[in-house]
Amino acid sequence: MVSEKLFKELNDQLNFEYESANVYLAMAAYCASIDLDGFENFFLTQTEEERFHASKFYNYINEVGGRVTISGYADPQNEYSSLLDVFEVALKHEKVVTERIYKLMDVAQDEREYATISFLKWFIDEQVEELNMFNKLIQKIKRVGDNTNALMTLDSELAQRVFTPPADANA
Ligand code: MG
Repeated sequence: MVSEKLFKELNDQLNFEYESANVYLAMAAYCASIDLDGFENFFLTQTEEERFHASKFYNYINEVGGRVTISGYADPQNEYSSLLDVFEVALKHEKVVTERIYKLMDVAQDEREYATISFLKWFIDEQVEELNMFNKLIQKIKRVGDNTNALMTLDSELAQRVFTPPADANA
């Protein structure tokens, strides 16, 4: 059975996923403001992904008899010094998410709450992908440097990103 403490942690993470969606929406808006439409699309897609993560917590909490509550959150960062700055802040954010998921897993394991452990495994794997994606893009942006053509190529590449929920999604 999921304890009140674990329900609270799951609900906090649900709200943090929505907060993450807002963080990336602000990044999309910044990219739009510097006319990088592909990067804007990348972050809009990331926003959809975070909402999907939130909906997984929403469904899970309801499925196991908890009560979802929605909270407000702090304003996201809207101003950045460069594109690299945006991605470095994004990577830092994903590291925080990973730490939060790990702590959530610690609570589930302490309580031997196997259903929640199983549910959280998807997020553990997802965070490996998120960190890898942002690390790789930071390396690419560093390599692009001041080369406008290379930047435009990367922008076109990121314009292709679309959000596709996994086939087994219980959203
Ligand atoms: Mg997420």
